[in-house]
Amino acid sequence: MRIAQRLNNLEPYLFAEIDRKIAEKKAQGLRVIDFGIGDPDMPTPKHIVDALCEASKDPRNHRYPSYQGLPAFLEAVSSWFEKRFGVQLDPQKEIVSVIGSKDGISHFPLAFVNPGDTVLVTEPGYPVYRTSTIFAGGHPYLLPLKEERGYLPDLKSVPADVLNNATILFINYPNNPTTAVASLTFFEEAVYFARKHELIIAHDNAYSEITYDGYVAPSIMEVPGAKQVCVEFHSLSKTYNMTGWRLGFAVGGSEIIDAFKTLKTNIDSGVFNAIQYAGIAALTGPQDYVTAMCDIYKKRRDLLVECLEKIGWQVKKPQATIYVWVKVPKEFDSSTFTEYLLEESAIVVAPGSAYGPSGEGYVRFSLTIPEEDLLLGIDNLRKSFLQ
Ligand SMILES: *Cc1c(COP(=O)(O)O)cnc(C)c1O
Repeated sequence: MRIAQRLNNLEPYLFAEIDRKIAEKKAQGLRVIDFGIGDPDMPTPKHIVDALCEASKDPRNHRYPSYQGLPAFLEAVSSWFEKRFGVQLDPQKEIVSVIGSKDGISHFPLAFVNPGDTVLVTEPGYPVYRTSTIFAGGHPYLLPLKEERGYLPDLKSVPADVLNNATILFINYPNNPTTAVASLTFFEEAVYFARKHELIIAHDNAYSEITYDGYVAPSIMEVPGAKQVCVEFHSLSKTYNMTGWRLGFAVGGSEIIDAFKTLKTNIDSGVFNAIQYAGIAALTGPQDYVTAMCDIYKKRRDLLVECLEKIGWQVKKPQATIYVWVKVPKEFDSSTFTEYLLEESAIVVAPGSAYGPSGEGYVRFSLTIPEEDLLLGIDNLRKSFLQ
């Protein structure tokens, strides 16, 4: 047996050593508070679960679903998109369902990248942008996101020879892990850049609805002409606490979506109809659940940020996402600080370096833990660092 080369090109799993240490602590009977994972802890709203239960009883839904998504689901996406962003999408031509946005993002380069092509990958970022590029035979060109630029990429810094070969630019705002947000002005610049250099922008908008303090996240599709050069991935995972359900959608101009559909018909057979009906209930039903959930995250954010600031660590109070991005004190790097927090306070964070070289020097706290655990974690931090 031999394992394909493409698997050897992946970075070693950075959490492995930390996972081992967590297991050690737990074996000692210590209660470890996990701020590491970004997986919503609250249940899916009841009306969505009910829609699944109902639809799952209908034998028509037990057969293969449509590849591109149920017409009713695509219609629901289209109305939601227009209401939310003021952008009209043709349900049949400009929208396709995906089995969670990870499915969409991980396969997208297969439709647009030839072996040897370059893909511009912003980092720190969701690791799938890089790995999906490698799986398609492309070369990731890492485009750093720096604090001093508000974690927006310096598009002008990309050398001409790299650009000549580039087919996709991956961006993600509101951003995981830095929590940065982008204005419509930045999206306009990005669309201009994509047109000029004939590449596709793949925008990951997984956190568009998880925002605070009145901030409203835009869609890149709001930029005139964006459809021709952009695809945008959306997910029901974070918005409706549906990470386990696997439902999202990609939107863009018909040429891009068409090619992507051709690819996907050869990979998967669509999303279980009953889950799409649940998705319709989510998108067309009451949205006050989303507001209430953001209020809960906001409360957690404020408790955590207040504590971290009191300790004296440099924190960016997020306007969006389910994370808090923290600069590590000078004497540490991402991974030694992660280990130190585990040793001193029995809390787990995600080392920024796991998301790319420019994440070095930061750690990410996730807000997806119940308040009781959050308070315990904060208490541990206070005891270790404030007394
Ligand atoms: C959580 C997340 C996703 C994906 O979620 P799915 O559950 O696959 O829809 C995509 N991008 C980013 C940046 C995320 O954090």
